[in-house]
Amino acid sequence: MSFLSLENVTISFGGIRAVKNVSLDIKEGEIFALVGPNGAGKSTIFNLISRLYKQNEGNIFFDGKSLNHLKPFDMPDIGIARTFQNIELFGNATVLQNLLVGTNVRKSSNFLSEILFTRSVRKEEVTSRVMVEEVMDFLDLQQYREKYIMGLSYGTRKIVELGRALALKPKVLLLDEPASGLSAEETADLAFWIEDIKKIMGITVLMVEHNLNLVNKVADRVAALVDGEIISVGNPKSVQSDPKVIEAYIGV
Ligand code: ADP
Ligand code: MG
Repeated sequence: MSFLSLENVTISFGGIRAVKNVSLDIKEGEIFALVGPNGAGKSTIFNLISRLYKQNEGNIFFDGKSLNHLKPFDMPDIGIARTFQNIELFGNATVLQNLLVGTNVRKSSNFLSEILFTRSVRKEEVTSRVMVEEVMDFLDLQQYREKYIMGLSYGTRKIVELGRALALKPKVLLLDEPASGLSAEETADLAFWIEDIKKIMGITVLMVEHNLNLVNKVADRVAALVDGEIISVGNPKSVQSDPKVIEAYIGV
């Protein structure tokens, strides 16, 4: 059974088909990269998986279940976490607060048990805190824990956003252009982290990325998307040497 799959998915915006009949099959434990020119439909695919958008046609399955009727706020509980192409964090809150807010959306306790502050709530609170500390250690964020987001560099904010997604303990992590705006050194760190997210944490990664060096370094498989259509899928080398891909890139 496939892990995360899109079957013949199409979505239009005002008559323009942004994603056309796309089928994708992401395997558990792999790092899968989506590449393609601006406007190809890459972020739209992320928005479809995370249910911010609903497809006009086709189906999306995760872990054996259809996502068709789920809402964005269901995603953390089923194990899907994401980052955004434009960072989405609370600027007036600290790094620690932003990471804890992320884990709050996952709490299974209801309102009444929150008021009574039962043992299960307390246990979840402790688990969240432990996870947030682990993520801050892993991403080297302890030095910023009490710093406000708005005072941090762009690169650090991007890593905080990655941390917030990781603190949800997802099964799949969707990263939309994780290296854009990062320095060469930050990008090198990111490559190691993405590899460890797969190897050590066992998380499946689906990423959109323009930096082909990063894609070559970390991705197990790549799909090239042009004008809403997948034109090539395979290992990074085979996709980059595919004449259809070369033609599409030169044509752009
Ligand atoms: P990419 O991430 O590959 O650069 P996008 O998925 O953001 O591209 O966009 C694909 C196409 O869909 C673009 O033409 C974009 O303008 C259009 N699009 C995406 N989201 C919307 C929306 N909410 N409303 C209208 N058009 C949209
Ligand atoms: Mg995009």
